This record gives sequence, C-alpha cells and structure tokens, in this order.
Amino acid sequence: MNRNYNHIRAAIPALLVAFLSGCSGGSGAVNSPDVQAGAGGAAAAAPVLSVPANLSVHEGLTATFLIPTSTLSNGRTATWSIAGNDAARFRIDPATGALSFRQAPDTARPGDADGHNDYDLVVQVSDGLRTSQAPLKVLVLPWNDGGAAGLPLPVVASDVARPAGTTGQPGLRVLDWAGFKAALSYTFDDSQPSQIDHYPDLKAQRVRVTYYVNPVANWYPNYDATWKDAIAQGSEIGNHTTHHCRAAELTDNDPNTCPAGLGSAGAEFDDTGVYIRTKLGQSAVWTSAYPFGDTDYKPAAASRFLVSRGVWPGTVAPGTGSDAQNLPLAEFPADASRFDTAASQGRWMIYLFHTLLPTTQDWGGGVDIGAVAGNMAHAKSLGTVWIDSVVNVGAYWRGQQLLQAATPTTSAGTTTWRWTLPANFPSGRKLRVVVNGGTLSQDGKPLTWDRRGYYEVSLDAQALSWTQ
Ligand SMILES: [Zn+2]
Repeated sequence: MNRNYNHIRAAIPALLVAFLSGCSGGSGAVNSPDVQAGAGGAAAAAPVLSVPANLSVHEGLTATFLIPTSTLSNGRTATWSIAGNDAARFRIDPATGALSFRQAPDTARPGDADGHNDYDLVVQVSDGLRTSQAPLKVLVLPWNDGGAAGLPLPVVASDVARPAGTTGQPGLRVLDWAGFKAALSYTFDDSQPSQIDHYPDLKAQRVRVTYYVNPVANWYPNYDATWKDAIAQGSEIGNHTTHHCRAAELTDNDPNTCPAGLGSAGAEFDDTGVYIRTKLGQSAVWTSAYPFGDTDYKPAAASRFLVSRGVWPGTVAPGTGSDAQNLPLAEFPADASRFDTAASQGRWMIYLFHTLLPTTQDWGGGVDIGAVAGNMAHAKSLGTVWIDSVVNVGAYWRGQQLLQAATPTTSAGTTTWRWTLPANFPSGRKLRVVVNGGTLSQDGKPLTWDRRGYYEVSLDAQALSWTQ
C-alpha cells in the first residue's frame, strides 16, 4: 500500500460525523459566513451540509461517486454547485448534488491543478437565501493500488451508517464480490508473443489480470521481463502447463503426440510452477488453466491449485458451489450495452484472450487490443464491477464459502466462527461483511466499520467473534 492511501484510510473515521444539527464541529463542513437576512428581517438558518473531507475513488470512474446531503429550513429547496481549484473536472447535478468526473481520471495523467491525483473541490448548497460550503478532496487511486492482494474500493455515494441493531443475533452476512455488484477477470492464455508486444497497452489500464503461461514459449524476446513486470504491477501469472498438450497425450507413449511432454499432468504443472517461482519470481502459483480446457487435468490440479479455469461457457454465482477446478468462461461482449446487461447479473465473469491484434504473430482467435482496453475502461467507468485477477476473485469467492459454511459456537455471550484455509490458499486475503449490530473482533481486536458499508475480516485469522 502506498503512503497516500494509508493516510486517507486513517482519516475516514473522522468523516463519520456525518450529520450536523446546528453544530459545525467535527466534520469538514463549514457553514459560510455570508449570512443574508431572511425576508422578515430575521436570519433564517443556513443550510447544513454533510460532505466527507476526503474520498478515495479508483481511476477510470465516470459514474456518480458522491451524493452529499443537506438539511434546509422548512420549505426551502437545495441547489448544488461546486467551486475550488479542480472544479472544472467535475459535474454536479444542481438538484440532487450527484457528483461525478466529467472525464475518466487517469493517474498517469493527473488532471488536478497540482498533479498529485488529489482533486480539491468546494461543495456548495444554496437554499435560495443562503449558501453553505464544505471542502472535499477526491483522491484517485489506480485499480491495482495495494499491490497484488488489496481489495479495490466499491463506489458508495452516501456514507453507510454502522449497524447498531440489538436483535441478539449477529446476522452475519458476507458481501458478494467485495461489495461490488459483479466480478470480472481478464485471462490471457499461452504467453503469446502478441500479448508481450501489447503488454504496455494492458499495463496502462492498471487493472490486475491473469496471464496463463506455457514456458515453452519463452523463445520470444522480453518473455521473462514482461511477466516479471506484470507481477510487479499486481497481476497474476497462472499455470497453463509447460508443453500445452492434451493430458492423455502425456501418458500414451506415442512419440508422435506431445514428444517433449513430461509424462504426467502433475509433472507439467510442477515444471511450470518452478519456472513461475524461480524465473519470474512469483512467491507461489495459485491457479491454473487447462490446455484446450481439457478436464483430464483436473485430478492433478485439485491438489495443486485454489481454482482452475476451463473453457465451458458460463459465469460463477457468489458464495455457492460452482466447480472450483473447472471455472467457466464468459462471452466477451462486442458492445457496452451487452456488457452492462452481463454485469447486472451479479456474477463472476472470466474472459479468455489468445492473440491480441494487430500482430505479426497471429496464433489464432485474435481480438483487437483496442477492444480489450476499451472493455476495461468501460468496466472501470461504472464503479460497480470488481476487476481483478483469478486468484484474487477466486480467494474471495472460496473465502465467502468457508465463512458461510462455518457453524458458529456461542460461549459467555461471544459467538465465534472458525474456518480452516484450504491448501493453496493465498495469504493476506480479506472478506467484507456486515452484521445487525454489536461488535466483531479478530485476535481480540474490534474490527473497524468502513463508511462504504462493511467490516473487513482477515481470512488468515481463521476465526471471527461477535458480541452484542
Ligand atoms: Zn492454451
């Protein structure tokens, strides 16, 4: 995590002082001194404005990211506007206050006056007689902020109050897809030359993706360097076997089929795993994709990987039992409206790409790089789709299943869920949960409520406790 991000996250609890009722202390809101007399000569109460002092959003977003609230004198109507150094980059709906970027922000080309990707605004609301205003700093983060494992931030237009119910029941619920509506993984198979040549275009999107590599293709220039850089950017290198044969060809003793094959599916996976760890420097290998979607690889994959991807058509529902060792592929949509329909279904979509066009190394199944990058940009603009690597979404998906399957025990007023992480589960992963009220804790420390509407639970802790 970078320093800026931590700084903003640390500031969030102070922002939870949301509503000011006649008191301006404790929040970023400032009720301006430009007092005008009311019609009868008596000063009417100025509008009271509720705006967080800081907000973090991911780059690429053009959807509404904030709807501030105000309290006005009886019978008055709010009219919203913005001022400040970077106001020209934003639009605000005068009637609702809905705030959005005019153009998708790009952290590589900061659009704010000081070029720090932190946009300074003053949000203003008028009741027709008087105006109140509050400063707002909007920090724009890359989608791969936080390295390989950090969860991105869902867009929440209004602060969500910490649940304070007293039902006596925790009502624990895991948010699907980390609080986003849907999840999306871009996968690229075969470590093809055209993917290496177009890697800078993919990198420029700053989303984490998964490259399923066959090290036998490492004759192409910049092979290792490209995948090392992808790891440094937070993307995942997955296992696609060394020689890309059908599993049966590895054991048929036929010199005409897969002559270089290593003799078993497990040996092919292990050889590629060594390459990814030692030549490319990824700490472990958590996911695989089967050559040709050949599910004869499944028995060998089951003991080696958290999840594996096949090639059958489909999408994955949250928190339920799709086959973790044969995840399906979603159809890559040709246009934005079809993407939006798919994204509204609330499922995990996994795309597969082979050759990226244009190229002199056409290995078949080509898709134009502009279509891929355009799809990424559109998915980011919505703010409702979690774009991440297969290992990251897969760990959340399987982690949700683990917690949901845990039967809580209650002792001396404390309810505790326990789970055991399966083999090949990456460390440092979190779930986002809500409860009816009360306090959640792990390792004896209370969890902190996030204004976006969740507690973050560490999966590594393998236990979660609740008290009323
Ligand atoms: Zn392949």
